[in-house]
Amino acid sequence: MTETAVMPKQSAYDAVALEAHSISAWFGEHKVLDRVSLTMPARMVTALIGPSGCGKSTFLRILNRMHELIPSASLAGEVWLDGTDIYDANIKVTDARKHIGMVFQKPNPFPAMSIYDNVVAGLKLTGTRASRREKDYLVEECLTKAGLWKEVRERLRQPGGALSGGQQQRLCIARSLAVRPQVLLMDEPCSALDPTSTRRIEETIAELRDEVTIVIVTHNMQQAARVSQQCAFFLAEQGTPGHIVEAGPTDDMFNAPVDPRTADYVNGRF
Ligand code: ADP
Ligand code: MG
Repeated sequence: MTETAVMPKQSAYDAVALEAHSISAWFGEHKVLDRVSLTMPARMVTALIGPSGCGKSTFLRILNRMHELIPSASLAGEVWLDGTDIYDANIKVTDARKHIGMVFQKPNPFPAMSIYDNVVAGLKLTGTRASRREKDYLVEECLTKAGLWKEVRERLRQPGGALSGGQQQRLCIARSLAVRPQVLLMDEPCSALDPTSTRRIEETIAELRDEVTIVIVTHNMQQAARVSQQCAFFLAEQGTPGHIVEAGPTDDMFNAPVDPRTADYVNGRF
């Protein structure tokens, strides 16, 4: 099998830890993150919580080098995936992103493209070649993992834009899984969805966590409590750059937080 082929092999999904070491970030002169360090272990969902504007999305983008798309953005610190510094000068940004999928608040499938082609699209972006049979296999596998296969198996040729919002978000999850990422970053993936769709995405997250390291930003504390095993509480007080006040097992963060600000936030007193 050539190295560019799609390998329908479970082990290709083996989850690994993602580590951020002392990340500081600026937009121009404006410092928005201050020395954020966090280990996001494999087989755990890490929830990033905190008020708006404290740098959660910026931090998430730094984890897959997406902030590099913003010309004014600059960065100090390191991000390690499975023992490799993804900012190493020898690592191409496309190679780094191949291993780290991202899902956004607003579902963004290619609306005119078929459901089938939406899932396969990720392969094109990373230059992976696959036979028709491999693609068929991949589409079924990824849609199944995203909890969408049964609903769409009879209409794979219909446009992605014809699906409901919740289905579109699950299609986006399937698309991001197609390159067999080791990490899945999710930025408020349910904020635009109804409660039923939200529940379906949460089920998908629970099923994926054995094979993909998941980091999710959420403003919904009940969701953080339901889906995550670890939480990091971000804060940017009075114009100071965003930083982590407290991070730890989700149970501790909700039931025995060390910092009074964490207790206030998780109990909705912010
Ligand atoms: P959160 O996701 O926690 O709401 P963000 O990471 O979106 O926070 O934003 C953190 C800070 O960075 C905010 O002050 C925001 O205004 C600023 N910021 C975010 N994106 C940009 C950008 N593209 N250009 C300039 N400033 C930005
Ligand atoms: Mg955000």
